Amino acid sequence: MLKCFICDENNKTEEAVSICIVCGMGLCMEHARRADLEIWEGHYPMPVKTMEKDLPRFLCEYCIESTYIATD
Ligand SMILES: [Zn+2]
Ligand SMILES: [Zn+2]
Repeated sequence: MLKCFICDENNKTEEAVSICIVCGMGLCMEHARRADLEIWEGHYPMPVKTMEKDLPRFLCEYCIESTYIATD
């Protein structure tokens, strides 16, 4: 069973419901951040070929932060 990496850092155990498409860490529902396309308007720098096309894409909070900074 894949576990949420962020919960694990906080000494909690939560089952992951998704993975970060950038770094691949497991994420529970609480820590998964929806990677809406508007964040990356005009470009799409992350490799997503391991994901099914129609699945929602998620990022961990670390990758969301670095993405916002990079595109600001
Ligand atoms: Zn979590
Ligand atoms: Zn990540």
